Amino acid sequence: MKEMTLKDIQQFQRDFDKKYFGKYWDKNEHSTDEQITILKDMIIALTGELGEFANAVKKISRDRNAIGTEPSEEMLEKLKEELTDCFIYVIILSNILKMDIEKEYLEKTEFNHKRFQKYLK
Ligand SMILES: [Mg+2]
Repeated sequence: MKEMTLKDIQQFQRDFDKKYFGKYWDKNEHSTDEQITILKDMIIALTGELGEFANAVKKISRDRNAIGTEPSEEMLEKLKEELTDCFIYVIILSNILKMDIEKEYLEKTEFNHKRFQKYLK
């Protein structure tokens, strides 16, 4: 599989969503109410995936605390799968908002570098 930038991933997801679900969040095609409904549906989906990730962490933690088991390969794979599902919805939301998520990420981490300078010893 070829390496992809976040821009590539955003375009891949746009093409995927267009192929399987049709266009969305196009101001020329959707009323404001429809756009808000789409945004609401996607944040509910992302929250659902975060819940699945959290539930897997809960099970790993519960088993560790109750019977001292190491997290199984199956559970670690489950964590990766659910985090990937979260990432997909973050990409979809960034596309809906027409964000350049790579640029926004770099700007935010630059901001955070300055913000957390005070914690360096
Ligand atoms: Mg999932």
